[in-house]
Amino acid sequence: MEPLVDTFGRVHRDLRISVTDRCNFRCTYCMPEEGMNWLPRRELLSFEEIERVARILVERFGVDSIRLTGGEPTVRANLPLLVEKLAALGTDLAMTTNGSTLRLLADDLKTAGLKRLNVSLDTLQADRFLEMTRRDDLAKVLDGIDAARAAGFAPIKVNAVVMRGVNDDELVDFASWARDLGLIMRFIEFMPLDADKAWTNTTVVGLTEIVERIGAVYPLEAVQRGSAPATTFRYADGGGEIGVIASVTQSFCDSCDRIRLSAEGQFRNCLFAVDEYDMRPILRSGGSDDDLAESMRGAVAEKWAGHQINQVHFIRPRKSMSQLGG
Ligand code: SAM
Ligand code: SF4
Repeated sequence: MEPLVDTFGRVHRDLRISVTDRCNFRCTYCMPEEGMNWLPRRELLSFEEIERVARILVERFGVDSIRLTGGEPTVRANLPLLVEKLAALGTDLAMTTNGSTLRLLADDLKTAGLKRLNVSLDTLQADRFLEMTRRDDLAKVLDGIDAARAAGFAPIKVNAVVMRGVNDDELVDFASWARDLGLIMRFIEFMPLDADKAWTNTTVVGLTEIVERIGAVYPLEAVQRGSAPATTFRYADGGGEIGVIASVTQSFCDSCDRIRLSAEGQFRNCLFAVDEYDMRPILRSGGSDDDLAESMRGAVAEKWAGHQINQVHFIRPRKSMSQLGG
């Protein structure tokens, strides 16, 4: 086994796969309301192509964690078939979803071998949900979370992007709700990857403030940080834990072990990368596994030190979060 190492010595074991660029929502911080040009079907990697790339990464380079994302992964037809193929590779297999279709899909995904679920939900208020996602689907998402619990996914993590003046007044509501249902809340700092380019530094609610505001009601204790991007805190009363993904105020680039495959087969070494490495021509022109592996090795070797948000050197990627997968 050959580790996938960059010039800074970081070993890459965590693969994010975007299975589609499409989405049934239009979250304001992620996608524009209109004007998205979806990839034509033939441009998406097939399940067989995705599995081939993943297999090389697992078998040659020791990738041990795969997360399906999008766009909205559950809008890709027959998703459980892909889950079955990837589950056979024996990694920790997870998915990030907006939760709106889980009532229909949770059982099939579980049976197909999906191990973990993260559901994105940024407000518990129906009118605000409509404003933030441009869809009136809060009830569907809450029902989807119920269905996922009933299907046996545990613990389910709920991801909320926190934006000042938009939903930061719900931090404690989220904490109470998740404690009651045995869910793990993960608060995400707002990143400059919104299609509408509304991000400014002042819209970010940072880790320190999030923990102070929740801790004032439910006292929290820090848990030792591992390689995971979320910084974890435990409720002092034993009521569970929360995570904060502090990509902006405390970037975790130094320990980042992620690589990404986009829906059309672009391999990326960083969420904020400017360069992509195209796997699709190799896959579709009879390239060998060695050819694919060589391209992946090259992509990781060229990874930069970090994204430098908040610095003058920061370059905003051309793609929005919905095209990058989160
Ligand atoms: N559609 C799925 C979902 O919403 O969970 C998967 C794709 S979505 C792009 C993945 C994650 O990125 C979600 O948790 C979403 O909240 C997060 N996200 C999107 N735009 C963001 C931004 N500008 N800053 C921080 N997180 C963002
Ligand atoms: Fe769709 Fe997820 Fe982006 Fe919302 S965050 S628009 S659900 S891809």
